[in-house]
Amino acid sequence: MNNNFNKSLDTKKQNIIIDTANITKTYKIGDIEIKALRGINLKISEGEFVSIMGPSGSGKSTLMNIIGCLDIPTSGDYFLENIDVSKLNDNQLADIRNKKVGFVFQTFNLLARANAVHNIELPLIYSKDKIRNKDKNIRAAIKSVGLTGWEKHRPSELSGGERQRVAIARSLVNDPTIILADEPTGNLDSVTGEEIMAIFQKLNKKGKTILLITHELSVAQHTQRIIYLRDGIISNQEKIENPTDAEERLKQMPKLEDKMNSL
Ligand code: ADP
Ligand code: MG
Repeated sequence: MNNNFNKSLDTKKQNIIIDTANITKTYKIGDIEIKALRGINLKISEGEFVSIMGPSGSGKSTLMNIIGCLDIPTSGDYFLENIDVSKLNDNQLADIRNKKVGFVFQTFNLLARANAVHNIELPLIYSKDKIRNKDKNIRAAIKSVGLTGWEKHRPSELSGGERQRVAIARSLVNDPTIILADEPTGNLDSVTGEEIMAIFQKLNKKGKTILLITHELSVAQHTQRIIYLRDGIISNQEKIENPTDAEERLKQMPKLEDKMNSL
């Protein structure tokens, strides 16, 4: 009994939740074939914070769409928590996506007419399962991104950084297996971007698995591992021994008021 318990802890330690086996993706436009992914083997363990870098057109978004169950590969297998999702139909894919993946985008993708709380609860509304403690989940998500007090504000009444916090809270509310963030700081100034990275780091410390796409090395250096994509293959991988600590960096960065005073 005791032995089994220890064993399960051990496997949990290196629990691989994303496992792609030689994934390819070919888009066909008329007679032209575009090989966006040409054989990707990627494993991500529970609790990791990983980034993907690569030039425009290298296949980052295609890979993220497949990992996020928005699309399926042309060939190869993809296991998400040991479920082979590479052969599911659209309905099955949507169901898994809703349960297991939280998305954060560069352009926030919030509903303009809905206030912060209503945006955050959307994944719960789409969910087929009856969610217990719905309000508790929403409150916890709001608190974890530091938005308490802003619940009734619409996106137009919020800054870019606050909008991205709403999007992160929305990505958390279903308690997904993994958070996928595509250029989440791309539309933000450097201080606000650092604040967003501090939130991701805090969530990761609490155990969330996060996969982040970025163009900027300085952003990727906040994560534990960088995967470099080039022409649809993984060209390199790098372990970051001492990731940049966003909270520490923020202490050294000028506050907005200081910038205003110096104008
Ligand atoms: P990245 O996100 O790194 O910029 P993408 O994954 O968006 O790269 O694109 C990889 C390649 O696949 C590019 O050549 C792009 O033009 C092509 N591509 C992406 N999506 C489609 C699509 N829906 N139809 C056809 N070609 C596509
Ligand atoms: Mg892209």
